[in-house]
Amino acid sequence: MKKIITSLSSALLILFASLSLTTVAKSAEFFTIGTGGPTGVYFQTGNAICKMLHKSAISAEHGRKKGTAKAYRCTAPSTGGSNYNIGQIAAGEFQFGVAQSDWQYHAVNGSSKWEGKQFSNLRAVFSVHNEPFQIWARKKAKIKDFAGLKGKVVNIGNPGSGQRGTMEELMKAMGVDNSFFKSTTELTSSEQVKALCDGKIDAFGYSVGFPNGAMEQAATCAAKASPINLTGSEVQGLIDGADYYAQAVIPKGTYTGQKKDATTFGVKATVVTSADVSEELVYLVTKAVMENFDDFKKQHPAFGFLEKKNMIKDGLSAPLHPGAIKYYKEAGLM
Ligand code: GLU
Repeated sequence: MKKIITSLSSALLILFASLSLTTVAKSAEFFTIGTGGPTGVYFQTGNAICKMLHKSAISAEHGRKKGTAKAYRCTAPSTGGSNYNIGQIAAGEFQFGVAQSDWQYHAVNGSSKWEGKQFSNLRAVFSVHNEPFQIWARKKAKIKDFAGLKGKVVNIGNPGSGQRGTMEELMKAMGVDNSFFKSTTELTSSEQVKALCDGKIDAFGYSVGFPNGAMEQAATCAAKASPINLTGSEVQGLIDGADYYAQAVIPKGTYTGQKKDATTFGVKATVVTSADVSEELVYLVTKAVMENFDDFKKQHPAFGFLEKKNMIKDGLSAPLHPGAIKYYKEAGLM
């Protein structure tokens, strides 16, 4: 009899244990934020958002604050960048992504690279830091402006990255194709600095927030690289022709050895999602960032200038997701 009771209770124990395991697994919902290369700012942005969300969730789980009923678990892996992220959101693989304002515009409107693949369900959440489009050149290559890239070895970026797309738009505006360069490479943002420092390439194009550790490395390694000016009527034409571009300056002294301002054009980094993602999740993500704003801003020096009132409108061409609107209205931001 005793034996039966013992085995019965151990069976019950196993049953309860597995039940509680499934309860835990079911109550946590996993979601993904697509970012960029591991040495860029998008990777930090995605992970900062996860951190803010988990922070709010922990407060809720520990009963310190009224919080979320459901536990959301966020991951922000490194990816190929803007257009890759938007594609993954469209495919339902990612729930959020960081993307340049120009690619947000093109995806939702079905223009440029997104022609014939319009993603009308793309939704905006908020914008983040400025991303000047930068061409970094090694000192010995003596490249002063876009014309100086003629006959050089240039990294145009991996397909799927925002900089690859923006570089192609710039080349179109300049009236050149790949044959303008000696050769082109398709290195990712985390590979290109080493290639420049090793003298394997003369320059690379990159849209990224500043200050940025990887660019400081390009400035201080054997290449002694710096960002060139991208100005003139063609660049002005790009800025005048589109709301998602603006003039951008990387002030002198941002990087070691940078004696002059670098004047160029730029975009905004934005956080996007899909109309198919639940109002609750988008609301919670938005709220977690906005209500832990000082902490969020500390997560990267490129966030230093962020202001909530600009983040809910600048660089956003897709409609705001209803979950974000719900929070902005509740917080009196709208
Ligand atoms: N702007 C780049 C892109 O969209 C990524 C920059 C970063 O990783 O910070 O691909």
